[in-house]
Amino acid sequence: MARVHNFYAGPAALPLEVLEETRDELLEFRGSGVSVMETSHRSKEFDALHNETIGLFKELMGLGDNFKVLLLQGGASLQFAMVPMNLLGEGKSADYIQTGSWSKKALKEAKLFGTVRVAGTTEKDGVFRSIPKQEELDLDPNAVYCHLTSNNTIFGTQWRQFPDTGGVPLVADMSSDILSRAVDPAPFGIIYAGAQKNLGPSGVTVVAIRDDLLEKCSKDTTTMLNYHTHADKNSLFNTPPCLAIYILHKVLNWTKKQGGVASLEKINDAKAKLIYGAIDGSNGFYNCPVEKDSRSYMNVVFRLPTEELEKKFAGEGLAAGFLGLKGHRSVGGIRVSMYNANGLESVKDVVGFMKDFAAQNS
Ligand code: PMP
Repeated sequence: MARVHNFYAGPAALPLEVLEETRDELLEFRGSGVSVMETSHRSKEFDALHNETIGLFKELMGLGDNFKVLLLQGGASLQFAMVPMNLLGEGKSADYIQTGSWSKKALKEAKLFGTVRVAGTTEKDGVFRSIPKQEELDLDPNAVYCHLTSNNTIFGTQWRQFPDTGGVPLVADMSSDILSRAVDPAPFGIIYAGAQKNLGPSGVTVVAIRDDLLEKCSKDTTTMLNYHTHADKNSLFNTPPCLAIYILHKVLNWTKKQGGVASLEKINDAKAKLIYGAIDGSNGFYNCPVEKDSRSYMNVVFRLPTEELEKKFAGEGLAAGFLGLKGHRSVGGIRVSMYNANGLESVKDVVGFMKDFAAQNS
């Protein structure tokens, strides 16, 4: 068996020990005599796992008892609709900050449910290269919430510091940088993330919702898309994605064992310094189109002098054991996605490859 360095943007690398444990326990889950895929979601074994998962997530995120953590399905994309469906309505308005493809998709859904304002955008000629500065935002003090995407997986930008909304709750899509760094949860009313980058496999979406926002949610929304349904039933209203939650539990345990977000943040900082250092020190062979203070520490995007060289880079990279280096199909170029499970060694190796490639092709 030869495992390669996995730089896919998502689904993405999982910690090896999580995969090994899953393999070892696949036939029998917690002494129940059956696999986790075969046990009832009402069994005492699954119930314990489910509650431990929620507890671990709250602990790692530093969430207080004023947050409910929901384990849902439908991906982050369904949250684009659920958030406005539950919180907008007659006489209510929400702010949306536009920083990339996913925030545009969130805005598109919100428009179906009520009044929305674009409170800031960095789109120029169809592309995004930065995160707006505080003074560039036009925030509505009466908005029900202000939505943003904390890390833009496709354009490789990331909020390094969240905006001050003057008390309007932030609703954040943290799909591609959740648990990668310490975040003060105080300004957030809702944090959501599809699991398939820093949390586990696809199939489960984690939503943390603050009690005061939950209280503001409509009671009339269709049952399965109503936050109250899932909050009232501890996300066990219907059958949850048991296997995905089981692996999420393992990834959260692994995250805790690494020392939690504070330790992972240091490693992620070191990884970012290394790769951006290689880009900036390449005499223009590699070029990162993102403004320096907006660069993502999770998804590093860059260009080479020609598209032919980019193709060659991705192809030779693959042959050398670096998977997923091609940029998103909508923007081209190269993208190195380095989530928590991609260790410093992996990034050192790809940086070594980048240096060799530049030397041979400049
Ligand atoms: N938001 C962001 C920031 C993403 O990166 C993605 C997926 N790559 C999504 C939303 C969509 O997530 P899902 O596929 O879980 O709906």
